[in-house]
Amino acid sequence: MAGSLSQALTPLVATVSDPEVISSYTTDWTGRFTGHADVVVRPESTEQVVAIVQACLAAGAKIQIQGGNTGLVGGSVPPTKSDHAVCLVSTKSLTSILDFDEISGHITVGAGVTLGKVQDLVRAKGWDFAVDLAARESATVGGLVATNAGGIRVCAFGMTKRSVVGIEMVLANGQVMSNLTSPLKDNTGYAVADIAIGAEGTLGIITAVKLKLIRPVAETTLYLIPAKSMKSALETLTKVQNSGYQLLAAECVDAVSMQLILEQANLRPLWAEIPKLTLLIEVAGRDVDLELPGEALGSSEPAAKRNYWHYREVASDTWTALGKVHKLDVSVAVSDLAEFDLSLHNLLSSFKGVELFGAFGHLADGNLHIEFVGPAIDDFAVDYAVLKLVAEFNGSISAEHGIGRAKRDYLSLTRPALDIEIGKRIKSIFDPTGLFNPGVLYVD
Ligand code: FAD
Repeated sequence: MAGSLSQALTPLVATVSDPEVISSYTTDWTGRFTGHADVVVRPESTEQVVAIVQACLAAGAKIQIQGGNTGLVGGSVPPTKSDHAVCLVSTKSLTSILDFDEISGHITVGAGVTLGKVQDLVRAKGWDFAVDLAARESATVGGLVATNAGGIRVCAFGMTKRSVVGIEMVLANGQVMSNLTSPLKDNTGYAVADIAIGAEGTLGIITAVKLKLIRPVAETTLYLIPAKSMKSALETLTKVQNSGYQLLAAECVDAVSMQLILEQANLRPLWAEIPKLTLLIEVAGRDVDLELPGEALGSSEPAAKRNYWHYREVASDTWTALGKVHKLDVSVAVSDLAEFDLSLHNLLSSFKGVELFGAFGHLADGNLHIEFVGPAIDDFAVDYAVLKLVAEFNGSISAEHGIGRAKRDYLSLTRPALDIEIGKRIKSIFDPTGLFNPGVLYVD
């Protein structure tokens, strides 16, 4: 079955069937999720994507969609076992720059263009792109849209969906759905193409996206601020928000994560003692003088700011380097964050088997990335207990990374049954045979 699939695809598109090369696609960024694909294809055009979909349909194969493979919930790699042949479609070669409307501030790019490339292109022309995250050099535009990625600028500019004007997507029957040529303002009924945003590749293969750009904030001031508790961190945040300066980022890193960051990234300690929380708060304006604790460090110089940001940007990877790390990405109302943080601490510090835990994340969004080691990688007892706690706080079990394969069993903790039922009906309309990303988001 796998051999005939390869034979059908080879005349249509560049294929990879060397098992060693395939394994680099079937292991995710964290090394925690691995799967099996019979063949990997790298289409360079929408027409090739259509031909792949038709060939897979005819062969009774399933499709796993992958962009930059930086996702953290196992949604970018295929399952370990499948009753069908599996074709992994890597969108990394869909790199055309299709249009740059510098008057409207819209850029239309292939789904495989990386976030870093978009940033470079538009900054050179006096524009900027609102979404930013540490995996920018690998994460693709298609992946950002499919996961509705967040990142460090959500408090100022929103999640990815706020920056999407149009989408082209190849459907499960090979048809191409597109609103790329529609204007920004278009209230003519259901925003059907928007359904692709946050769908994690379960409804089709995004092949191109039209993005709305922003004007860059010319000057900014970034502060690193020590905080003795989550409560005092939130008091500082409120103070900054009340100052009248536009808030561009408000991040936090706890002491355990900071210790790992200093050790593994070989960075200099910021203060004599690592504080309970280190805040990174960036506001618009040069040399902005905020009323902050005496030990706060601040700068408007680009090199100093890059250096400061590095402490936060390596946080996820320093935990990953410990191996067999459990990663959660949760959110609660900002007003509940201090109480949630306390309950989380109590839960994890008393949970048998947890050797080390810590958190960092997007303070102003009530979004914490919780990491811990100790339990075997397939032991989800602690994950479940944390997600149940999140549900008790009316939070979300996935603030920005998506559900993937990692959290599909827990979706009902925070999503009403009706939502899940309607979601499954939408899936069956777009993808009646379950061609795309089987087992991602919903259990088959
Ligand atoms: P992949 O990982 O390849 O895929 C992710 C999902 O999208 C999969 O379900 C896949 O099937 C689907 N998909 C990908 N491309 C397409 C397509 N063209 N059509 C349809 N479906 C598609 N995320 C945040 O939200 N905020 C952060 O701050 C953040 N920081 C990160 C920092 C680091 C160091 C790392 C490693 C990751 C971080 N992430 C963050 C997670 C990740 O970068 C995002 O989820 C990103 O959007 C994934 O893009 P990708 O191209 O790598 O997609």
